[in-house]
Amino acid sequence: MHDRSPEIAGDAEAPQVGELSPPDRTLMGPGPSEVHPRVLRGMSTPLVGHLDPAFVEIMDEVQELLRYTFRTDNRWTIPVSGTGSASMEAAIGNLVEPGDMMLVPTNGYFGERMASMAERAGGDVVEVDAPWGEPLDPADVEAAFDAHQPDVFGFVHAETSTGVLQPHVSELTDIAHAHDAYVIADCVTSLGGVEMRVDEWDVDVAYSGPQKCLSCPPGASPLTLNDRAMDKVLDRDEQPRSWYLDLSLLEGYWGDERAYHHTAPITNVYAIREALRLVAEEGIESRWERHRAVAGDLKAGLQDLGLEMNAPDEYWLPSLNAVRVPDGIDDGAVIDYLLEEYDIEIASGLGDLAGDVWRIGCMGYSARPQNVEFLLAALEDALADQGFDGN
Ligand SMILES: *Cc1c(COP(=O)(O)O)cnc(C)c1O
Repeated sequence: MHDRSPEIAGDAEAPQVGELSPPDRTLMGPGPSEVHPRVLRGMSTPLVGHLDPAFVEIMDEVQELLRYTFRTDNRWTIPVSGTGSASMEAAIGNLVEPGDMMLVPTNGYFGERMASMAERAGGDVVEVDAPWGEPLDPADVEAAFDAHQPDVFGFVHAETSTGVLQPHVSELTDIAHAHDAYVIADCVTSLGGVEMRVDEWDVDVAYSGPQKCLSCPPGASPLTLNDRAMDKVLDRDEQPRSWYLDLSLLEGYWGDERAYHHTAPITNVYAIREALRLVAEEGIESRWERHRAVAGDLKAGLQDLGLEMNAPDEYWLPSLNAVRVPDGIDDGAVIDYLLEEYDIEIASGLGDLAGDVWRIGCMGYSARPQNVEFLLAALEDALADQGFDGN
């Protein structure tokens, strides 16, 4: 030790914290999903600067891989620094201008978050209703457009709170475009796990998160905008309220200029690059198919245990299986038992479905047959411990 200068006196008491050793969990909840070892390895590689030519090349590769995964040619396709809510707020906070009207769905938890973000952006919010556990009906969306003429329409492609997949995406985008509105799709629990075709389905803006079907730690979140949407963003009269998420500024870093805006989360960009490389290696269509097959076995196994899925089969969301809690069973006790006895994470219901469902994720690297078999065996035991006999 070198001698301390005389101005610094005394020794503050340093906290005694042990070495990091989180439990080894099997993650079958609504996210985060398990991370592929290759992604974890990628995260332990040395940093380069965020303007290093080597990093600029990595940025280009991430953008190319994101376009492939979103099924889009959109130039404005980037990972936003932050979790899925950051890409969500980047989408809504830039597209919705003060005085704009945004139409949001009421059939799940994340429509409410859309509404809250639109209000903070200075927008007015109107709703299109559907019960929690059902998708939007295009006829209701049409009626809401006729009644309110919204400027922006947001919907949730894969509702993580209800386990419902929104079908008819092209029908919804057709309705919105016939009314000159812009469409924002929440693809947080669908990107890389469930079929999503941004260009073919004419979605103007789509955002996602890394820690669901991409099986990447949270930190850099996919966002894509077509030229029409980006034109609206670049033509705004007023600056967006967030400096950090201002896409006209982020464009300077991710676009041709590559000028400093904020320091990119280098390690998270490495991580999503490797996670997306895994998507490309598997092939996006094969990956959608794997989620259907593995989650299909999960669903069949749950039904064999005597449990009932919350969503009707037509709207079943492979990446998030909402299953009804049988009468007389304490949902929390089962969740605790799985965690304590088996180190398995599943989640309880949210909002209108609190206490009524368990939410079992089957996403990315967690969507593997061995995880499903392990969970089903553990769940059978947990239910028996609660006195449930499904047969
Ligand atoms: C998880 C999730 C979000 C928010 O993502 P965070 O990473 O938690 O910020 C938004 N929408 C949906 C549908 C989600 O499942």
